[in-house]
Amino acid sequence: MTEEFIQTHSESELICPRCGSVHIQKRNFGKKAGGTIGTVAGVTAGAASAMGGAELGAAVGAIGGPLGFALGSLAGAILGGLMGGAAGCSVGTSLGEVVDNKVLDNYHCTTCDFSFSVR
Ligand SMILES: [Zn+2]
Repeated sequence: MTEEFIQTHSESELICPRCGSVHIQKRNFGKKAGGTIGTVAGVTAGAASAMGGAELGAAVGAIGGPLGFALGSLAGAILGGLMGGAAGCSVGTSLGEVVDNKVLDNYHCTTCDFSFSVR
């Protein structure tokens, strides 16, 4: 059960709109989901750039012969994937935070089990 609630206090002064309790938890559903989705999206995008990384790595590694070629491809691909994942996670977390603050009922009263949002 949720209700829209308008309040102007800063976060540290939050009180429950139903029972007046100060025991308020921030749920951060969007932030967590955003981080996960962002990581997946980032790894996917990273995998695409990993192909470029593999090519670059292979070109550099080719100087060292067949083994260098293989290692260079691998290193380039891994770096591309990791960087994409990290960037995606941070973007997703930021987006999720916006969703938490603007869209979801992100606050939860631990005294009376009431959920509400602050705008
Ligand atoms: Zn309450």
